[in-house]
Amino acid sequence: MEKTHSRREFVKAAVAGLGGVLAAGRHGNALGAEPPAAGRRPNVIVILADDMGYSDAGFTGCEDIPTPHLDSLARHGVRFTSGFVSHPFCSPTRAGLLTGRYQQRFGHENNPRFDPSDHKAGLPLTETTLPQVLKQAGYVTGIVGKWHLGAAPEFHPLRRRFDEQFGFVGGGHDYFKANPAGETREYLIPIERNGQPVVETEYLTDAFSREAAAFVRRHAEGKPFFLYLAYNAPHTPLQVPDKYLARFARIEDPTRRSFAAMMSALDDGVGLLLATLRELKLESDTLVFFLSDNGGATRSGATNGILRGAKGSCYEGGIRVPFVAQWRGRLPEGKDYPHPVISLDLFATAAALAGAQAPADRKMDGVDLLPHVLGEKAGPPHERLFWRTGGGASYAVREGRWKIVKTGLGDPMLYDLETDVRETTNVADQHPDVLKRLLAAYDAWSKELAPPLFESPASAPPRKKGPGRRK
Ligand code: CA
Repeated sequence: MEKTHSRREFVKAAVAGLGGVLAAGRHGNALGAEPPAAGRRPNVIVILADDMGYSDAGFTGCEDIPTPHLDSLARHGVRFTSGFVSHPFCSPTRAGLLTGRYQQRFGHENNPRFDPSDHKAGLPLTETTLPQVLKQAGYVTGIVGKWHLGAAPEFHPLRRRFDEQFGFVGGGHDYFKANPAGETREYLIPIERNGQPVVETEYLTDAFSREAAAFVRRHAEGKPFFLYLAYNAPHTPLQVPDKYLARFARIEDPTRRSFAAMMSALDDGVGLLLATLRELKLESDTLVFFLSDNGGATRSGATNGILRGAKGSCYEGGIRVPFVAQWRGRLPEGKDYPHPVISLDLFATAAALAGAQAPADRKMDGVDLLPHVLGEKAGPPHERLFWRTGGGASYAVREGRWKIVKTGLGDPMLYDLETDVRETTNVADQHPDVLKRLLAAYDAWSKELAPPLFESPASAPPRKKGPGRRK
């Protein structure tokens, strides 16, 4: 599959993210990061894809799946070429994104199993969520799509301060059917509107796009809005209507073909949302982020290009994702931002824009990215970034060009990402001082963390994996 992608373009994008000139200064301060003193605050939209790989968008070098609408975000916004998530799989990344904190600080290091009677497996109620602080600042808040932060009633998005909800509370879903009559299998649980089961007849990705656009339309005036559009696409099961599949008859591999069609549906949905913003003249009032929740699940059709590893891994293929931001008239257009950023930064960025109060009684880990992107602040937003899975079984630390990676029982390895973004050559022996410094930084960070609160479910979801097609 990888051979169908432009390695040249990808390498260009990946290497551009490493140690290059800080391009942000070129645009100076003319654009200004401050929202207008009077009037409505800017809207914020976060679009999250699920299990999409680094190289599954045109703007990161994908050649077999046209993604014109995702590419337009990059063309009219800022492409973060070293954009990371705080975890290599689903739920912990979402916990970090919605709290602005390394999720291991509060023990959210695994996927909660789907069990409405489990009051432990979910985003701890002691955490403050992004919709919570934005709501306090006068925003209307909405979630469309996948939740995956606990299935017990107290974990429901409406209880975590989303005003409006459309979607499902589990970790994945069948794209064609749901059974509102007491179904307990995770992938067939009800699709809900504001906590109540609804009958949904559209392909689920299209339904989420429809609901996202409707949310924007409903809130075009009045309070500013925060929309969290968390597609479960292109996560398995690989199910897709013929109208999307027909676009990819040229792709021979059936898994990649279905994956491509699912990505195409997602891209159409992003197009619908962007067209809605344009029609309502909200583009210059709305900051839009797009990213994936973890690296690509390559066995399910995703590709991470030249990056080592995949979903679940602390190598780049598990944690480096397509990551862009658009705000017409405010952010530079078509610019690459090279320094490492992380999904945790979305909280701080949105809170700053909203004039919201971030929690002061706990350690926050994100950085407001706007001053960095606008060149008002030079230098990288983060001195170091950290990852940990399995309570410390695997971990990684990034500092400038350097990254240590520890997996399983092996020794920690050191990579120079500036010359070796593929993580092929362990240079620990050549740079023992760097290895020692990064290990010490990991130990110090690790001491601040809690042990995992709950374990991931032992078995895969009860759906047959593999390509499928439906009318
Ligand atoms: Ca995921």
